[in-house]
Amino acid sequence: MSKRLMLARLLNMFGVNFAVAKMKRNFLIVLNYHRIADHDHSTEFDNDVFEHSVDVFREQMVWLKQNFEILDEIHLVELAHSDNFELKRNAALVTFDDGYADNYTLAYPILKELGMSAIFYVPYSLIEDREVGWWDKISWLVYKTTKEKGNIRDIDLDFTSPHNRATSAKALHKYLKLNPYTDTKSIISELSEMLDVELPSVERQSKELMTWEQLKEVSDNGISVGSHSMSHRLLSQITEEEQSWEIKESKTLIESRLGKKVNTIAYPVGAVTSFNDTTKRLVKEAGYDVGFSFYPGSYKGKILDKFDIQRISTSSEFDLFKNEVVFPKIFF
Ligand SMILES: [Zn+2]
Repeated sequence: MSKRLMLARLLNMFGVNFAVAKMKRNFLIVLNYHRIADHDHSTEFDNDVFEHSVDVFREQMVWLKQNFEILDEIHLVELAHSDNFELKRNAALVTFDDGYADNYTLAYPILKELGMSAIFYVPYSLIEDREVGWWDKISWLVYKTTKEKGNIRDIDLDFTSPHNRATSAKALHKYLKLNPYTDTKSIISELSEMLDVELPSVERQSKELMTWEQLKEVSDNGISVGSHSMSHRLLSQITEEEQSWEIKESKTLIESRLGKKVNTIAYPVGAVTSFNDTTKRLVKEAGYDVGFSFYPGSYKGKILDKFDIQRISTSSEFDLFKNEVVFPKIFF
């Protein structure tokens, strides 16, 4: 058992997290999810973006609703603009990135049933072109190849066991996250040839993503839809002009697709190195109210930087989840 889990179990035994969750701390935390898995979970795409089963997600949402005030986008924006916020109860905001179909088929019914708001962040071009992200294409190729070994850009690839395939996919994901986007398309087509695997058809890719109709429906029912850029490129890796296009164009086009104003953006990948000061300036100039990153953090009485609002990802283990949400400073 990990030290984190041991500490979590101990705190649970004494009901510490429960007591603290109920305690008024003027505390705000933002949670981020990507994919939820159904009961017969199997995927031909990137397995690492599935955080939880649908049962675990429900368990988390039920607990969160019991112990926190669940914010909607408007309320969050209000807090972000206040110099010193006063909350009646500790607050949480739920967000989803990337626009996967399961956000609509699995997460949305649970949120709706519990009367919880959330924000879904979508990369405009992926939804519009019915095309999954590069990380999913890489995983598709690596999971399907009948080759045993390979090498690309000095990365050794091994496909001789499920574990080795997963390790190879991770190594490629890491490389592509850190390298300029110009290389991404060529790597994917080179890999497809080298591994002798065809890329998924548009029809196949389309099934993984929400449609505009589904996004319209959720946006009419308590879920806000925000921008996750146009193409999910790392904003820090591209020119100012390209960043500007990713940030402004996605806002305009999502707004015209849904007939609603887009007020917030979540930066692709969202690590400290995935965006920069230029990103934040352009986001402000484009008229967004706030921008979300994706590395651990929480807030007490004040959001320090409304264009870098930190979000946490949660563990599936319920004991850990409760502590991560209540004591993020200790558990991350
Ligand atoms: Zn993303």
